[in-house]
Amino acid sequence: MAITEDSPITLVTDKVAAALLEKNKGIHTIGDLLELVPRGYLDPGQVTDLSHLVEGEMTVVVARIARATTRPMKNKPRQKMLTAVITDGARELDLTFFKAWGHEGKLVPGHLGVFAGTVTRFNHRWQLTHPEYEVMGDELDEEAVVRKFADRQIPIYSATGKVTSFKMRKVIDAVLDQVKEVREPLPPEVRERRGLVGRSEAIELIHRPHLRDDPGVGFRRLRYDEAFVLQTILAQRRAAVESLEATSRVARPGGLLAAFDARLPFELTAGQREIGELLESELAAHRPMHRLLQGEVGSGKTVIALRAMLAVVDAGGQAALLAPTEVLAGQHHRSITALLGDLAEGGMLGGSDIGTHVALLTGGQSAATRRQALNEAVTGDAGIVIGTHALIQKHVAFLDLALVVVDEQHRFGVEQRDALREKSATPPHLLVMTATPIPRTVAMTVFGDMETSTLRELPRGRAPIETHIVDSFKPAWVERTWSRIAEEVTKGHQAYVVCPKIGDSEDATGGDAAGGAASGDDNDIEWFDEDVGDPGDPGDEPPGDATTQPERRPPKELTGVYPLAELLATEPVLKDLRMEVLHGRLDSDEKDRVMRAFAAGTIDVLISTTVIEVGVDVANASVMVVMDADRFGISQLHQLRGRVGRGGVPGLCLLMTDAEPDTAARERLEAVESTTDGFVLARRDLQLRREGDVLGARQSGRSSSVRFLRMGNRDDEQLIAEAREDATGVIAADPTLTDHPQLAARVAMRLDEEQAAYLERG
Ligand code: ADP
Ligand code: MG
Repeated sequence: MAITEDSPITLVTDKVAAALLEKNKGIHTIGDLLELVPRGYLDPGQVTDLSHLVEGEMTVVVARIARATTRPMKNKPRQKMLTAVITDGARELDLTFFKAWGHEGKLVPGHLGVFAGTVTRFNHRWQLTHPEYEVMGDELDEEAVVRKFADRQIPIYSATGKVTSFKMRKVIDAVLDQVKEVREPLPPEVRERRGLVGRSEAIELIHRPHLRDDPGVGFRRLRYDEAFVLQTILAQRRAAVESLEATSRVARPGGLLAAFDARLPFELTAGQREIGELLESELAAHRPMHRLLQGEVGSGKTVIALRAMLAVVDAGGQAALLAPTEVLAGQHHRSITALLGDLAEGGMLGGSDIGTHVALLTGGQSAATRRQALNEAVTGDAGIVIGTHALIQKHVAFLDLALVVVDEQHRFGVEQRDALREKSATPPHLLVMTATPIPRTVAMTVFGDMETSTLRELPRGRAPIETHIVDSFKPAWVERTWSRIAEEVTKGHQAYVVCPKIGDSEDATGGDAAGGAASGDDNDIEWFDEDVGDPGDPGDEPPGDATTQPERRPPKELTGVYPLAELLATEPVLKDLRMEVLHGRLDSDEKDRVMRAFAAGTIDVLISTTVIEVGVDVANASVMVVMDADRFGISQLHQLRGRVGRGGVPGLCLLMTDAEPDTAARERLEAVESTTDGFVLARRDLQLRREGDVLGARQSGRSSSVRFLRMGNRDDEQLIAEAREDATGVIAADPTLTDHPQLAARVAMRLDEEQAAYLERG
């Protein structure tokens, strides 16, 4: 039977190897195997002399096997290890295999071979442990071997269990000989336009390269494929949205929006005005708006969204605003109601007759409050409904949902925003907002089905934020930190102290990092309230990176909100201040009370978890201390510190850490310390992280993760832009991909993966 890309790998491997590859690498078919890229290459053209060995270096040598001995291991007598010695006639190098099996027959004394691995010193001798090798026999001389290999690169695959790199190479080599045809998803004209090799050639170049540049040429093609398939999906989605009919919503002249604008206490920035006009024109169109609004922390996105919401209310529709946390939903409700003033009392005695009502719906509300909000949504009494995930639930219905706004979009998956959109008979308009600056590559791959607007300027009067790293192991610095808080309070300002966990008795059972605030299992919980994430998670190993070790730190006791509150209560400089705690596990009323009190200035120091990370807006807060700052990611820290410096008073952010210099954790903190430009930070973040992890399965699903493309890389940005152009062209000419069956198959595969990832997450 002919082997094709769809054949199971059991046709070319034994069952054990197949099981390992499936489990550890997700490889099921021959096609998957062909796309398993080497993690690096050995270059036999650069053969090292045995007299020039350097400890710790990846080295390739050509030498003759002098002797090989097999003996049982001391502590595992049933396991045999093999030591061979190779020589160039004068000097020696030891080869060590802790499992002799499979090597004994090959390492025949007298034969020449090429050996590659990392050189170590052991018992005053040079050694290679588990080297890659190829034995030539005894007929060749050294020069002939070097010549034979001079034009070959040896791919190194990351081993998985018993499946060594060597074995992978043999299997893939055999497959390449047997698979006669490889699918070609790219239309020939695209290949030609972009100067790309065929897919079959690309795979050959990656697994059996000759020239040093070969793998690069092959990879470029695979990266393009990835971008092209992704962009084809996005182009199809755009085409689908464009073909939908939506209700046109135009604000009444002299209506709610006009009344609101008239009482706005500040002047809109140029960016706010411009984007506002754009949104109004899109809401007026007969196809659904589908727009991403990104803007720096504090750039004033909420008021843009509110004006869009008021426009649809003017036109007789309703708007829903989805927020990731109860604290943020509550704050939006308070601040929007306040901004609207008497306009928020529509239909009520004494309220403005052009006004509307703003309802709040969260999981933690009392049943009666919730029932009232649900009722206002379904009867249309509430023109604006603000809520958390509770909004998405099945029993929530609207009279006429015209606009869905998703705040802090990065906290939601695509499915969640879509679930809300389905609550309308005709497709509602959609506006998603994020304060996490999204570099072009990411926006094009993940939000490529949306139009993007960017708000770059901050409202006038915004003060700069200064950021400093504080070594938590230097008591004098820690003292100074607490004094800084006291000084700010003396000046009439307020402070945040942020901790990575809650630190109450429930934490003790739940492990560290507050584990995503899993405080229950109904759908009402605010899933993301205390999600510290794992910024150190190395994710999948990217191709071509064989040397970096993931950073592993011994677990340390993280600062909890409650223990810290106790400690600060005894600090001489702080003990007389009004301090309170806030975290996601408090009940809704308590959260609401604390946030109101902090906003009103009756709390001096708020000791909290990351519940305050997004959107919280208290202008009088001027200083923030982040405990165990190394436990947070770059964008999270940038978001957090955006809570201070809002009211014209300079902001101060102190990042407390015991991270050592020259560690990745410290580098993240230094990046945050060095700039407040969110776009610069986002790019730095992408460079410091492993790309597979860019969006995090948690945030947007594996659907958006990429294998070959490197996020934040300029070449790949170019490539993604080209792929977008090409894919848009293909979809315009052939929307259903009828004439592109191979491409259609790749698209279907990719969508299947997405679906699978979605189901996995539940
Ligand atoms: P973000 O974009 O981070 O969501 P917000 O919408 O919370 O920012 O806005 C931050 C603060 O700036 C709010 O208090 C808001 O009322 C205020 N604000 C918004 N636009 C302006 C403006 N044009 N001038 C002055 N203040 C503004
Ligand atoms: Mg906001």
